[in-house]
Amino acid sequence: MNTLTQSALQAGQDFLVQTYTRPDFVLVRGDGMMLYDSEGKAYQDWVAGIAVNALGYNDKGVNERIYAQLDSGLIHLSNLYHNVPQAELAKLLIEKSFADRVFFSNSGTEANEGAIKFARRVAYDSNQAHKTELVTFSHAFHGRTMGALSLTPKDKYQQPFKPLLAGVTVAEFNSIESAKASINANTCAVILEPVQGEGGIHQATPEFLQAVRAFCDEYGAVLIFDEVQCGVGRTGKLWAHEWAGVTPDIMTIAKPLAAGLPIGAILVTQHIADHIRAGDHGSTFAGSPFVTSVAKYVVDRISQPDFLAHVQDVGNYLQERLSEINSPLITEVRGRGLMVALELSVDVSHFVKAGYERGLLLVNAGTNVIRLVPPLIAEKHHVDYLVEQLTELLGQFDGDQS
Ligand SMILES: *Cc1c(COP(=O)(O)O)cnc(C)c1O
Repeated sequence: MNTLTQSALQAGQDFLVQTYTRPDFVLVRGDGMMLYDSEGKAYQDWVAGIAVNALGYNDKGVNERIYAQLDSGLIHLSNLYHNVPQAELAKLLIEKSFADRVFFSNSGTEANEGAIKFARRVAYDSNQAHKTELVTFSHAFHGRTMGALSLTPKDKYQQPFKPLLAGVTVAEFNSIESAKASINANTCAVILEPVQGEGGIHQATPEFLQAVRAFCDEYGAVLIFDEVQCGVGRTGKLWAHEWAGVTPDIMTIAKPLAAGLPIGAILVTQHIADHIRAGDHGSTFAGSPFVTSVAKYVVDRISQPDFLAHVQDVGNYLQERLSEINSPLITEVRGRGLMVALELSVDVSHFVKAGYERGLLLVNAGTNVIRLVPPLIAEKHHVDYLVEQLTELLGQFDGDQS
């Protein structure tokens, strides 16, 4: 281990709040699908900074956009003033979605916090004091701040931080019956991920989304789709809800939106926007010309039909090849586009670690799922390499156990 590696690992251990358990290498460079550590070792990346680096690393177009924006001298202005990239990005997102207006934030969690506030504001205007309740679903992940955490029904995340928001009901994901039993006249908003990410890559069925949409309409509840992970091309359509043909009142997006720069967005219908007044919400950093100029480039590029077709094509190939792996440990391969779960009958952490040794970055989603969310520029030959490595790893594990 060289001294750079040693001192970075040591400082990380000595000076960071230990909210993450990390492997003992230090990444210093990236290019395309590849990352390189401080010892010169290469890693093929199936994580993409948790579904963020959609265009991979060192993308020429992203780099050019960044340099060009720096030439203007503008990184940040605040939302006290108009700026061109923010306005252009807003227009583009509206042209490409169900929505009529957009509010920018700095992260996915923050987008969800804003969405909760927007829904509360709509209910408040209806003069129904009881209409404050929120409905979320099993295995959902919406973030870790107090509001978003209240909608993330996982004991390990919630328990130490109670009390959380009151009036949250947890319904069963993909159960129309459970949704029906949970949504009523007191419901202010219903939030769900069209494809659950952290919860293990579970797709909402079209019937379920249609039913939830109908219940929300019946009771005047705001329907929020959290597409922070599944949105912006990840599933092979620009928005994951397009697969079901059901649109929400509010959609939150974030992760890949600015190729790794921090951004989130709340897309809303005009009906929602009509209830939001000056001062109801805000952000110092959000929507900066620097970040939004990169995001506009990303949305322009990912929304090209060729780009989305590539995601579908490589995603289908990935599922096909994974399904061919002959291992008794594999219980299911599922997902959509380049958001794929390889579910095993055992804890996957062993394979994530073994992947590091072989120059493969993998991440779990829960105990039993290896979540494959690579840069959307992944090619079939990357899939071939992954499948070759996984086949060996799974085979060896069988050997270890016997
Ligand atoms: C990651 C994620 C969030 C939280 O986003 P941050 O940018 O980490 O705040 C919220 N919802 C979903 C579905 C996510 O995957």
